[in-house]
Amino acid sequence: MLQPRPGASPRAHFSRKPATALLASLLAASFWAGHPMTAEAAEVAVGIEAAEAPAPQTYEVPITAIAASTAMLAAERDSVEITWRSPIQWPVAEGSPIGNGFGYRGNVCAGCSTYHLGVDLFPGYGAPAMAMADGVVTAVSSNGGWGSYVAIEHDINGQRVNSLYAHLIPGSAPVVPGQFVEVGQTIGQVGNSGTTTATHLHFEITVGGGHVDPIWWLRTNIPADPTL
Ligand SMILES: [Zn+2]
Repeated sequence: MLQPRPGASPRAHFSRKPATALLASLLAASFWAGHPMTAEAAEVAVGIEAAEAPAPQTYEVPITAIAASTAMLAAERDSVEITWRSPIQWPVAEGSPIGNGFGYRGNVCAGCSTYHLGVDLFPGYGAPAMAMADGVVTAVSSNGGWGSYVAIEHDINGQRVNSLYAHLIPGSAPVVPGQFVEVGQTIGQVGNSGTTTATHLHFEITVGGGHVDPIWWLRTNIPADPTL
């Protein structure tokens, strides 16, 4: 059927443009049909068809080709990983044990404050402490109480919010003051520097300069994951 037929071609003159379009659609159709045609065979077929009848301007795509194409698009779509990142997240791995809460507490150790301005989180020694939101590092320092600590300032919906990460492993902070950090970025490793009885992250949040309960604030401000 696709054999060249000498004498067929010279019978009619046909314009190049429709033939080229037809050639392309024939090649595509044969590919989709699962029997790829060589360009040579398709050219011969085009020559015959164009010589015997006016080149069709439209080509009906076989249903099998549409099905294959749809399957291919679906496969491509499914391979795209849909990720969503919350603008606010926990400063340690979610689900880490939560210890002393915010507010009044007894003397837990010599030198420990009785009014707890933050919350103690226990993700384990060396675990990453992560920026709870995008922000600018305002301090990478150490003192007797907090030990090694990092402070970050955030603009959250136009409000100035500051977060503090204390008792880090000295020297573990990979950030410097003035540096912009993204939510989830590791800003140090959880340790037990400063005045502490156990390895943990002492975490504080201030909103407009006033301390708030970090657990309450995180639970209130972390949006639900829309992809779940
Ligand atoms: Zn604490």
